[in-house]
Amino acid sequence: MVLVFDLDDTLYNERNYVLSGFRAVSGYLGSVYSVPEDEAFRLMALKLELGRGRIFDDTLEHFGLCTRKRVLNCISVYRGHAPDIRLDRDADACLERFSEHPLYIVTDGNKYVQNNKLVALGLFDRVRSCYITHRYGVKNSKPSSYCFFRICEREGVPPTEVVYVADNPNKDFVGIKPHGFRTVRLMQGHYRDLELPAEYEADHRLTGLSGLDLDFLDKVFRRDTTR
Ligand SMILES: [Mg+2]
Repeated sequence: MVLVFDLDDTLYNERNYVLSGFRAVSGYLGSVYSVPEDEAFRLMALKLELGRGRIFDDTLEHFGLCTRKRVLNCISVYRGHAPDIRLDRDADACLERFSEHPLYIVTDGNKYVQNNKLVALGLFDRVRSCYITHRYGVKNSKPSSYCFFRICEREGVPPTEVVYVADNPNKDFVGIKPHGFRTVRLMQGHYRDLELPAEYEADHRLTGLSGLDLDFLDKVFRRDTTR
């Protein structure tokens, strides 16, 4: 039995990464342009609540500073910052509970950003390997099954021995289910209320990682043996 976890909104709350990035950018704007940091941060957080997009443009605009170059600088500060984030308590306990099992992470996203998150969360020390899909080319990001088969190869197990625990039904399950990988959807984060056609949905659902225990996994892995 091999346990594979998604990262964002599965092991920690992604919103906290975004806010941590905003703090870094506010600090940068404060030190370079003498902008009031708290005001800049509050502005960005408010824009986030209203729906993302153009947050740095709008913030720079607010202070009469907006140029393309400065927006790009904000983006690189955001992406490069060492995030102040921690594992959800349930995630921490879950990794502890299964620490004797082979554990992996498969995550999409900018490879430097994802790497910074994994470092900040101390995950390189807690799982066998972290697969940042973009390291293998964008075509191998989810819903591609590429990294999942690499895990199978490394562990010498078929897909039916591997479970993926993740939160986004748009891309987390649809590519791997047809190969026999087991799938568990966490009903949390941004996609919590999203319902998609059956092919996109995981075979099992949990409200949180506290429910991921051996009894539950017995169900997950037993399902196909009766088919
Ligand atoms: Mg996710």
